[in-house]
Amino acid sequence: MTRSVPEWRGKTDNHMPPATVRQRILERANFKCWICEGEIDKPGWHADHVPPLKDGGENRESMIKPAHAVCHRRLTARQAIERAPIERKKMKQSGAIRPAGKIRSAPFPKADKPKREGKTALPPKQLFSNTRRSA
Ligand SMILES: [Zn+2]
Repeated sequence: MTRSVPEWRGKTDNHMPPATVRQRILERANFKCWICEGEIDKPGWHADHVPPLKDGGENRESMIKPAHAVCHRRLTARQAIERAPIERKKMKQSGAIRPAGKIRSAPFPKADKPKREGKTALPPKQLFSNTRRSA
């Protein structure tokens, strides 16, 4: 019979489980990757949060499963692609992303032309002087 140990909880989401906890996680999963169900026989496996922290998962021992580094990266990349349009929509709604295109300003107001009062029109001027002499 094994001694019962209190569940490990990360103080923050960035806290990594210590080696003893990682060992417990691996043994609990029978040394199998939770994604491909293949055997984990090499060091360098990842402690994956299931469900992901971003989707409401918690940084605690019972919510961490072992996964091959390759499997974990592939799954994380796929999740990021699936999440991208939703994230983009959220950022647009919050105003973190500016709307595409120019922000149009109001045009200058059209002023009425002042009327000429008390002034007479100047006589027309000859634009070009006739320098060529006719023979
Ligand atoms: Zn795997």
